[in-house]
Amino acid sequence: MAKCPECGGEMISKSKRKICETCGLSLTGSQYDSAWDKIRDSARDEEDTSRKRNREYLNWYESSKN
Ligand SMILES: [Zn+2]
Repeated sequence: MAKCPECGGEMISKSKRKICETCGLSLTGSQYDSAWDKIRDSARDEEDTSRKRNREYLNWYESSKN
């Protein structure tokens, strides 16, 4: 079952388009794929940012011991 990239609701296929039953978003197959690609990219960016923050915090912790 396809999931809506906007609200996470279930999407139904209708004449080569996917339509969200919850928010009414209507996407073609390629729009649907690129919308999810974008979400995956931004999720990866957020992961990188928090990992960087942890490393900076660790650096601060290590240097504060001296
Ligand atoms: Zn939706």
